[in-house]
Amino acid sequence: MTNELLKELKEKNNDFIYEFTLPSNGKFEVPEYPKTFRMRIPKVKDEKAYLIKLSQIEDFNEAFAFIISRVTDIKNPEILLPIDRDFILLQIKKSYDGEKIKTIIQDDKGHYNEITVDLSKIEIPKIKKKIPLEYEVELPVSGIKVKMKTMVLKDYISAGRFFNNLQEKDVLTRAYITLAESILSFTTSEGKVYEIDNLYDKYLIIQELQGVDKRALIEGKEPFLPLIKIPVEYTCRVCGTHYNVELGVADVAPF
Ligand SMILES: [Zn+2]
Repeated sequence: MTNELLKELKEKNNDFIYEFTLPSNGKFEVPEYPKTFRMRIPKVKDEKAYLIKLSQIEDFNEAFAFIISRVTDIKNPEILLPIDRDFILLQIKKSYDGEKIKTIIQDDKGHYNEITVDLSKIEIPKIKKKIPLEYEVELPVSGIKVKMKTMVLKDYISAGRFFNNLQEKDVLTRAYITLAESILSFTTSEGKVYEIDNLYDKYLIIQELQGVDKRALIEGKEPFLPLIKIPVEYTCRVCGTHYNVELGVADVAPF
């Protein structure tokens, strides 16, 4: 009897029953980039495989790529844009746990609160313009022009691996390493071009920038690429403070 039930369950939910259009919807200038994807319903064994993977890898984006290739028909998730990655992770979460999910959030005083998030209320930003492979940002103080690339999952993975091998483990270093990964070259105001391959060298150059230039670089990064934000409103049960915060998809998904 048990074997019969097991057989029945094993055969169930293995087909790609959902089909979705990705938020980028053909706007990214990469010919082989998918416009849609199909997904099956994730099972307990997928969650387990994901958590095991998460404990083995260097960067969490590797685990995202792993679960996407496991439950969807996207076989090369490394080429995905962050907005599409987040959209897929959100669909995995919804079909596994439902639309109303519980998560633990920490406030700025270190208090923990359990909150409920309604995933059906999340707005998926629409991308209207073409997403270029490369673009340029001009730094106002130094006059340096920075050529940058649109980051995809594999770029985040390589930046994450690089960061993990550094001595510095703070969030700012991580942010600057990720920013450095997106840089292709620098052109000085005199027109001299510096194409730099080494990620650490690019990171060192960022360290030498003046604050206004640094801000221009960060703000100029992928202006055409919105992110999926999860707005959360709650009152802390310890201190009574009312909070309006935004979570990223990776804070609650895929499991
Ligand atoms: Zn509090």
